[in-house]
Amino acid sequence: MVPELTETERDVQSLAREFAASEIAPHAADWNRNTHVPVDVLRRLGGLGLLGLGVPEEHGGAGLGVTSLALVVEEIARVDVGVSAAVAAHGGLAISPIRDSGGARQRERWLPGLASGERLGAYALSESDAGSDPGAMRTTAAAADGGYRLDGAKLWITNGGFADLFVVFARTGDRGPHGLSAFVTEPGDGFGVGREIPKMGLHTSSTVELSFAGHAVEADRLLGREGDGFQIAMRTLDAGRIVVAAQACGLAAAALALAADYARERSAFGGPIARFQGIQFPLAEIAARLDGARLLTYRAAALADRGRPHGPNGAKAKLLASRLAVDAADACVQTLGGFGYSSEFPAERFYRDAKITEIYEGTSEIQRLVIARDLLGDAARG
Ligand SMILES: Cc1cc2nc3c(=O)[nH]c(=O)nc-3n(C[C@H](O)[C@H](O)[C@H](O)COP(=O)(O)OP(=O)(O)OC[C@H]3O[C@@H](n4cnc5c(N)ncnc54)[C@H](O)[C@@H]3O)c2cc1C
Repeated sequence: MVPELTETERDVQSLAREFAASEIAPHAADWNRNTHVPVDVLRRLGGLGLLGLGVPEEHGGAGLGVTSLALVVEEIARVDVGVSAAVAAHGGLAISPIRDSGGARQRERWLPGLASGERLGAYALSESDAGSDPGAMRTTAAAADGGYRLDGAKLWITNGGFADLFVVFARTGDRGPHGLSAFVTEPGDGFGVGREIPKMGLHTSSTVELSFAGHAVEADRLLGREGDGFQIAMRTLDAGRIVVAAQACGLAAAALALAADYARERSAFGGPIARFQGIQFPLAEIAARLDGARLLTYRAAALADRGRPHGPNGAKAKLLASRLAVDAADACVQTLGGFGYSSEFPAERFYRDAKITEIYEGTSEIQRLVIARDLLGDAARG
C-alpha cells in the first residue's frame, strides 16, 4: 500500500524543493568545505513552517505526519545531507517525544517555540558505551530537591552545538532498558556542550558531546513517568528511521541525477560514455532500487500516519535505502571517473555523506535485528 500524497503534502514538498534549490544548493559546497553549520537556514525553515510539521495546530505547528517530514528531509538531502539531518533531528527526534509523551502543560510550554524555529531541538540518547545498546546507559538522574540531578555524558548529539532544548535520556532505575527516563532540559548550570566532533562527512551538521555534572532538572521536565524512557526513545526512533530512509533516497536521487547528466555529456572513444553498457547497467540498477526504496519509505510513513504498527516497515526502508545511498554515491563517483574523486564536484561529498545513513538511528545490523524479530518472533531472541 502506497497512498497518493495529499495536496498539502505536495505543497510542503514543493516548498521544501524550492527552498533547497534557492537557499541551500548554491552554498552547499562552500559550507561543507568550511564545515559551516548554517543555523540561520534552520531558522528560516522555521519561518516557512517547515520545522513544526509534526506539531499539532493548537501548538503552532502544521499538524501533519511523518510523510510530510520525510518529504522535506528528502528534498533537502538532495542538495545537502547535513542540513537535512538537522531538520530530521529537530522536526522528528526532538519534537516527537514531547508531542507524544509530554503532558498538556509540557506541550504548551515547549512545542510552539520548536514549531516556529525560535528554539531548536536535539535528542540525546547515545553515549560512548551505549549506542546500539541504550540499556547500557550510564548517565543518571538521581532524585534531589523534589526534582532530579543529572550526571554523566552523551556523545554524537546532532544539533547539540546550537540547540536550545534537549530531550535527554538518563537512568532513574536499575541497569537495563527499563530503568531509563526522558527529560527536557537546556544547557546551563551543570550542563556543558563540548566541541564539535570532526567527521568523515555531514560537515554542515553539528555533532557534539554533552556533559552533565549535578545538572538540576525540575520534576515537571520528566516526560511520561519514570521508567518510560526506553519506550519513548524507541517509539521516536521507529518514526525517525523512516525519515532517515527518506534522507537516503534524497541523496541517492541526487547522485543518480549527477551521474546520468555526466554520462550524457562526457565523451570517450568517440561518443558519450552513456552508450556503454558498463555505464548504463549500474545506473539502471540504482534507478530501480531507488523506486523500490521510495515505495518502502512512503509505505512505512503512511502506516505511521495512520497510527498502524510501522517499526519493522521503517527498519526495512532504512536498511535498503541506506545501502542504496552508499551504492548510488559509489556509482556516481565511478561514472565521473577522476572528476568523481575531485572535491570540485559533489560526487565525493555524496560518497562521504551516504555512509552515515547506515549508522545513525540504528545501524544496519540493528535494522536487521528488528526485521528478524518481527519475522521469527521469540525464537530470534535466543
Ligand atoms: C554523525 C552522527 C550523528 C548522530 N546523532 C545522534 C543524535 O542526535 N542523538 C543520539 O542519541 N545519537 C546520535 N548518534 C549516535 C548513533 O545513533 C550511534 O552511533 C549508533 O546507534 C551506533 O552506536 P555506536 O556508535 O555506539 O556503535 P556500537 O553500538 O558500538 O556498534 C558497533 C558495531 O557493532 C554492531 N552491533 C552492535 N550490536 C549488535 C548486535 N546486537 N548484533 C549485531 N551487530 C551489532 C553495530 O551494528 C556496529 O557495526 C549519531 C552518530 C553519528 C555518527
